[in-house]
Amino acid sequence: MRIPVNTASHQYEVVIGSAVLKMAVQSFDEKLQKADQLIVFTDENVWEAQQHYFESQFPYAYEVFVMPAGEECKSFGNFQNAHTFLIDKKCTRRSFVFAFGGGAVGDLTGFVAATFMRGIPFIQIPTTILAHDSAVGGKTAINHPHGKNLIGAFYQPEAVIYDTNLLQSLSEREIRSGMAEVIKHALISNENWLSELMDIPSITNIAEDKLALHLKSGIEVKAKIVAEDETEQSVRKYLNFGHTYGHAIEAAAGYGGLAHGEAVMIGIVYALLLSERYGQLDREFTKQFLQYAYDNDYPLDETFNYSFETLEHYLVKDKKVEYGQLQFVLLNKIGEPFVQPIELAECKEVDHEYRSLLT
Ligand code: NAD
Ligand code: ZN
Repeated sequence: MRIPVNTASHQYEVVIGSAVLKMAVQSFDEKLQKADQLIVFTDENVWEAQQHYFESQFPYAYEVFVMPAGEECKSFGNFQNAHTFLIDKKCTRRSFVFAFGGGAVGDLTGFVAATFMRGIPFIQIPTTILAHDSAVGGKTAINHPHGKNLIGAFYQPEAVIYDTNLLQSLSEREIRSGMAEVIKHALISNENWLSELMDIPSITNIAEDKLALHLKSGIEVKAKIVAEDETEQSVRKYLNFGHTYGHAIEAAAGYGGLAHGEAVMIGIVYALLLSERYGQLDREFTKQFLQYAYDNDYPLDETFNYSFETLEHYLVKDKKVEYGQLQFVLLNKIGEPFVQPIELAECKEVDHEYRSLLT
């Protein structure tokens, strides 16, 4: 399956399916033959789990740079090490970089590719479910000690090669985390698709072919939005549904304390409560969704570990604060997102309401 991504700056394709890696890489044969160096960036866990498969499918000579896993990969120190690696390997503008990993590897690799000699081409080979989101759309970033993803660039890949075989070694927690972004894509786009997802008995146990179809649907939502608004001036903001409160919880937990998607799921439930006030969704739907999140073991009760005062500190630091007001993405109905400025006092009220709904 192929999904075109037509952004203002660059056009490329996402190739998705089981065992597509070799064939999709070979479709770049001409460019890769001309490259003076092929570099693969990955992290220690991905390499341990998937080195064998990668070697069996990647038909060219390459150098591999194995980085620390998780957010550590997006540190200034690792950013510098990655550049040093490229310099040591005598890379030039004619070199090609591959991001083989989850969102962390993809974000770091994309930013290194954007900045090395003012830009060299790169290909995303995502290995997590979450990366159906992060690998598409060209947001690249590293973290600053004062905040996540504060340093980055919009820089599109040459292609995204999404081999769903690679997802087999993911832990249940990483699957759950990634599925939160799939569910987010359904909530902001399509009621029927959302019902389908909510009918699945266990979100961490979906057959590979079905999963590929859900991932394809998620990528289509993202591709359509970034085609319309590559640099987040308007509709791209909708992708932040669940992320305002979610980011605050994620930051309060200390990055890595909660997986990104776990925090996003908490933020989605919170955004649904806010949506009741400004749109047509009702409490019945919020309760049904909350139960669905519990049934799928999303750790909603983690919220009790942080007071609203702690979350408030992170909420006001959000990149999306405009003219002193928090910008929340809410839903009028399923598939109808909009941006709503919200005062902190109302955030606190809804925080209280949210906590009283949790078991
Ligand atoms: P991740 O890259 O940290 O991967 C999660 C964990 O799973 C890591 O320990 C990793 O080593 C391991 N892993 C990855 N693939 C594996 C596999 N196939 N088998 C076994 N283990 C595997 O996290 P993520 O959830 O993929 O992505 C989160 C990151 O993505 C965050 O840094 C977030 O800021 C970023 N993000 C970026 C965008 C964007 O648009 N650029 C969007 C959403 C999230
Ligand atoms: Zn996200």
